[in-house]
Amino acid sequence: MSRVVNEANRGVPRPGVEQLGFEGMPERLFVCTPSKLGAYEDCPRRYRFAYVDRPTPPKGPPWAHNSLGASVHTALRNWFGLPVRERGRGAVPTLLKATWVREGYRDLEQERAAYRRALGWLDGYLEGLDPAEEPLGVERVVAARTGVLAFNGRADRIDARTGAEGPEAVIVDYKTGRTGLGPDDARGSRALALYAYAAARIFRRPCQRVELHHLPSGAVASHEHTPESLARHVSRAEDTARDIVAAEKTLATGADPDEAFPARPGTLCGWCDFRSTCREGSATPPRAPWEGIDRSGGGEAGGAG
Ligand code: SF4
Repeated sequence: MSRVVNEANRGVPRPGVEQLGFEGMPERLFVCTPSKLGAYEDCPRRYRFAYVDRPTPPKGPPWAHNSLGASVHTALRNWFGLPVRERGRGAVPTLLKATWVREGYRDLEQERAAYRRALGWLDGYLEGLDPAEEPLGVERVVAARTGVLAFNGRADRIDARTGAEGPEAVIVDYKTGRTGLGPDDARGSRALALYAYAAARIFRRPCQRVELHHLPSGAVASHEHTPESLARHVSRAEDTARDIVAAEKTLATGADPDEAFPARPGTLCGWCDFRSTCREGSATPPRAPWEGIDRSGGGEAGGAG
């Protein structure tokens, strides 16, 4: 794991501990993953349930779409773990069977249908890959520091490619959920931008291209970052980190936890692990654990963050 002191903010205003309002006091870096930051941005109350309240409030049952996503991600990771001569499409059924997560499905019929669908996705996806091409990393943990936060996360894949300027690293994220992903999704992904920021420093080569590989359709949504756009993502991540630190400090001074971490009810509540604990969110109709499979035909688990 590599740690790098803030370089993203060269040429842009660099938020730092002196801007937190605790002059003279050394601040600890906020340790986080992209999903931890995302949880707060989606709903501060959900963040509190997941990362602050202890013991952690009870979660709902496992989601089938998470099981499906995790199964596919692990099978792909293990495919790259095979010797090159064994990386054929014929290896897929054995790999998927070995990594299949059974939780959350409505019944055996739905689970079997999902398994067959996942086999088809993997077969189609691997048809387009050169087994001899070694990625720089597969489910690789990358990490970096700024003046405010220390983040780490697991990138699905980091490819070694040759761009116009020479060798480069490319962040690849597998998607198994909704269709219709586009360049805006790749551009707006905080996780992918943070991975690119860290990977450039770890592998000591440019890393500005990020790609979402949608396995059900084979579509690839990509974006070419610039140093400035990566710096903006890092800066926004720092803003969120500062908000979280401020909320946690408020809580530590005896504030009402529900006010320090307000609920943000919305469409996500039906899919929230803590819906049964959350007064505001429980007004939203619950989703069945298997509903994500029927709605989107896939899952999002195991992706960036
Ligand atoms: S149920 Fe909704 S409002 Fe409550 S924590 Fe979850 S996302 Fe937030």
